[in-house]
Amino acid sequence: MTRPRPVIAIDGPAGVGKSTTARVLAQRLGYTLVDTGALYRGVALAARDRGISWDDEAAVVALGDEAKLGFVSQEDGTPRLLLNGQDRADEIRTPELSAGASQVSAYPGVRRALLGIQRDLGREGGVVLEGRDIGTVVFPDAEVKLFLTASAEERARRRVQDLHDRGTTADYEEILTQIRSRDEADSTRAIAPLRPAEDAVILDSTSLGLEAVVQHVLELVQSCN
Ligand code: C5P
Repeated sequence: MTRPRPVIAIDGPAGVGKSTTARVLAQRLGYTLVDTGALYRGVALAARDRGISWDDEAAVVALGDEAKLGFVSQEDGTPRLLLNGQDRADEIRTPELSAGASQVSAYPGVRRALLGIQRDLGREGGVVLEGRDIGTVVFPDAEVKLFLTASAEERARRRVQDLHDRGTTADYEEILTQIRSRDEADSTRAIAPLRPAEDAVILDSTSLGLEAVVQHVLELVQSCN
């Protein structure tokens, strides 16, 4: 595969810092940022709009085929989710839609529908994609693959801090339980479970700051040029 600019795949569990890392990398490199989790959240939202239960696999899969999902870039490069042409980015970050996204993402038909969108967005390279299966399924030929890890406790602590900074109070134990249950669901599902690609670089972000992780990836990008 010869792409003029690389595909950078960043995978890892919920709350590990993928989004921040991916955003900083995309800004520094002038690459497009693709938040693949937002697409799964978009399918869950589309179902809720229509009053379709997330348990109804056939109806959710049909919706995954039919819904028009895409992104529009904010000025700082942050992608905002478009669902059927409407900006719905502000509605998808709730714990309810996190759980819905996790549920609908286990349906093979939904994953199939979103695979084409993700590949189209990354095809030309010069892109940072963050998700759960970018390095294993979406772009197994990505030039740079990073798998971020951190303890569930540390991820819960960061999420509580993040919510606190945005003026929301959150219960640490509750967040920790949610993170553990999403980890369990994401890593044990039959299709595209969360796991590092064999050729991924695994970094533990509990012990590394954001800048150290970013520098590490920039070095990987340099070395594939
Ligand atoms: O990354 P984010 O928390 O927005 O993802 C929401 C959910 O979507 C995840 O818990 C996971 O179940 C699913 N997902 C996925 N594959 C991806 C991205 C997200 O299965 N590439």
